[in-house]
Order: sequence, then C-alpha cells, then structure tokens
Amino acid sequence: EPRASDLPTLLEARGFSPAEIEAAPSSWAVIGDVILVQFGECGRREAVAEALLELHRGADTVLHRAGIAGEKREPTVEVVAGSGDTETVHTEHGTKYALDLARVMFAPGNKTERARMGEVVEAGERVLDMFAGIGYFSLPMARAGAQVTAVEKNPTAFQYLSENARLNDVTDRLELMLGDCRDVVSVRAEAGEQYDRIVMGYYDAFEYLDPAMAVLAPGGTLHMHEATPDALLWDRPVERLETAAEAANRTVLEIDRRRVKTHSEGVTHIVLDATIE
Ligand code: SAM
Repeated sequence: EPRASDLPTLLEARGFSPAEIEAAPSSWAVIGDVILVQFGECGRREAVAEALLELHRGADTVLHRAGIAGEKREPTVEVVAGSGDTETVHTEHGTKYALDLARVMFAPGNKTERARMGEVVEAGERVLDMFAGIGYFSLPMARAGAQVTAVEKNPTAFQYLSENARLNDVTDRLELMLGDCRDVVSVRAEAGEQYDRIVMGYYDAFEYLDPAMAVLAPGGTLHMHEATPDALLWDRPVERLETAAEAANRTVLEIDRRRVKTHSEGVTHIVLDATIE
C-alpha cells in the first residue's frame, strides 16, 4: 500500500523544488480506480497527478475536486491526468459502490460511519434512509440483514443506488424510492408505517426532523447528521433534536454524540444517535 509520505520522495526524484514539494497535496483518496485530490495552491498539477498515478499503480484517473454544491450534492471535478474515465466501482468493508465521481459525491472521510451503520443495525430491523445517495449507508445496512427503504431525489444518484442494490445482491432487502423523502414519509405516516431506525445523512437533516418523528417507532433510533460550528457543539444539534421530539410529543431517552470528520475550518461533521420513546 503506497503512503502519502511517499509522494515527496517521488517528486524530488522528478526534479521538483522543495517549495513545489511543499505546495503539493499531502492527502488524497483512492476511490475505486480514481484518485480524488484537492490541489489547492499546488502549481504543477499535471506532473503531481502523474506521480500519483505512478504511486497508485491500480489507479487510472486523477481528479481535482473543486467543490460540491446544492441540495443534490453535485460535485465539480476536473480531470488532471489519466484516462479521464470517472466511473468506477469502489469496495469498502466488502460493500461495492458503483459511481461516477464526476456526477455524484463520495465523502472519503465518512468511511468509518459507513461501516458503523452496518454494525449498529440488527437483521430484520426496518430502516428508513431519508437521504440515500448511491447507498452510502443503505447498502451496508441491507447487507447486514436489515429491511431498508432508501429515498433519494437526485436521479443520477438514484441510478447508481439501483445498480448498487444489484451489485451487492440486496435487491430483496432494499426498497428504492426516487423522490423527496418528505413526500415518501407523508404517505407512509398516513398508512401507519413505522421504522426502527432512521438515517438522516444530510447536513440539513434538522429541517426534516418533523417527518422523521412521524414514522419513527417507539424506542426507535434516529441518526441525525449536522455540520456544526465548533462553538455550537453540542448544544445546537441536541437542542434541535429535543425541540423536534417535544413538538411530536415524544421523549428522548438517550443521545450519543459522535464526530464523523472535520467538515471545514472550525466546523465538525457530527452525528447524533438518539433513542426516542
Ligand atoms: N452521508 C453520505 C456520505 O457518506 O457520503 C452523503 C449523503 S449526500 C450528502 C445526501 C443526499 O441526499 C444527496 O444525494 C441528495 O441528493 C439527497 N437529498 C437531499 N435532499 C433530499 C430530499 N429532500 N429527499 C431525498 N433525498 C434528498
């Protein structure tokens, strides 16, 4: 396994100056056969990208990740080196994720959380994933034996979600819904359906707490994600959750607080695991 610390040596051998080496990226992610990098201030991007391809022999394309925008979390990327094929299959903890990195997001820093969702769930549990994406959390949970309803409103992400259900052989445990999770929830609530566990893997999840409360079974668990300014840890997310529970006449039994990753300077991606009566 090549390490990030191998890059400076490689760049030095390729005649990079100490200042250029200093400006080169110190971390990146290998997703399937695509290397995803934020080049930042790095000047000789193409040459650095070629060195990365030499370091990761199995990889085929280097992408600069310029940003992720909007409610549908659409990425902006630029091909810097390699074949330019941005579609790949990434395997993580035995789960296969087919995706096109130029069209849908993949957060390398959420790796532990993706695996954790497959561990906390019990076989036979009824799960609702309100922001399923390509199946980041739904797939490991369905693979663990849960019965998952996965809702996603971005058609491109949904297309990969469907493909991934087949790829992981969980089509019988994954119910796929293309659309807004609020619409799905209102129909399900009307029909009296309930879920033992609800996953809300979206930074604006707090705006969707009311619908979530409407279909969470008594004693069920809610996983609410948030990007929280460090000064507001943990009051803001906890208050948002408690306020929504109160409005729904529900009692919060327990809240576990977890840091997922650093979101940006001074902001942490967190998740609350809340058990609600
Ligand atoms: N937590 C994931 C990970 O590990 O990388 C990222 C999930 S992504 C941030 C959130 C997804 O929710 C996006 O694919 C977006 O299209 C979808 N989404 C946003 N609002 C939605 C809504 N109202 N109903 C259904 N899906 C929605």
